[in-house]
Amino acid sequence: MSKIAFIGLGNMGGGMAANLVKAGHEVRAFDLSAEALDAAKDNGCRTFMAARDAVASAEAVVTMLPNGAIVESVYIEDVIGHAPTSAILIDCSTIDVASAREVAEAARAAGYEMVDAPVSGGIAAANAGTLTFMVGGSDAGFARAEPILARMGKAVIHAGASGSGQAAKICNNMILGATMIATCEAFQLAQKLGLDPQVFYDIASKASGQSWSMTSYCPVPGVGPQTPADNDYQGGFATALMLKDLKLAMAAAEDAGAKVPMGERAAQLYDEFARTGHGGLDFSAIIRAL
Ligand code: NAD
Repeated sequence: MSKIAFIGLGNMGGGMAANLVKAGHEVRAFDLSAEALDAAKDNGCRTFMAARDAVASAEAVVTMLPNGAIVESVYIEDVIGHAPTSAILIDCSTIDVASAREVAEAARAAGYEMVDAPVSGGIAAANAGTLTFMVGGSDAGFARAEPILARMGKAVIHAGASGSGQAAKICNNMILGATMIATCEAFQLAQKLGLDPQVFYDIASKASGQSWSMTSYCPVPGVGPQTPADNDYQGGFATALMLKDLKLAMAAAEDAGAKVPMGERAAQLYDEFARTGHGGLDFSAIIRAL
């Protein structure tokens, strides 16, 4: 059993922390929300009223927070200098590559090992312990983080040096955003050309138009496996979160001087969709905007 501090017990972090408790760890939880802390307590976590108290004496610190600015402030103000330097620091939030590298550098300068470990998989995978982790950091940092992450996921992959986990995550989600829109467009056009959506699915899912957006997350209700489309686009991966990831990808592309015209167009379309009041719907609901 290890003492693991967990900061950020929201939709994702709540289930992840509960899985660490189930694995036999002492989980020292902190969140700004009293409701999130109460739920963590019910799940067997030990709760604290301040992040720095949660991380004191921890052997590992895991964070699952909304954005890069919050991750920076939590690490700089409450983790670095407050957790023992022997603690492995693991940030699972989805944030920009530059902030991930800056925080890891600050941690390293203070004597800590730190990895970025963003996830693929949503709330259901966080609860079930079936997330995929993409890890950026040194070999030594990966070796220390891997057994902890393995308790919360089905795959833990070392992507490279600091920031590489975030880079893998936003590149993956840029593919996802663009292929979802392309899949939605194709179903719309197929239908207008007189094809039955199920027949088009049966063909494209076994032909070169196949993709995860088509076969695992079909945007058309009643076609393919059970997906958010079958539940009026409730649940799943919110449009607002897809937009967040696409904006991170666009900022990274600009910094790196990469041309990403399809990603850019996908970001524009999701931005318009979110602005018209659809940010809470699953991202496959963009089929309604076409
Ligand atoms: P959420 O808003 O439900 O949870 C974030 C939690 O952080 C909240 O409980 C909030 O109170 C807490 N928090 C904010 N500032 C804090 C601070 N300074 N100190 C302590 N706690 C603080 O968000 P979520 O859906 O759990 O997402 C968390 C991260 O995971 C995000 O970076 C998101 O992009 C990423 N992610 C989410 C999903 C998803 O499907 N929800 C999927 C993959 C990745």
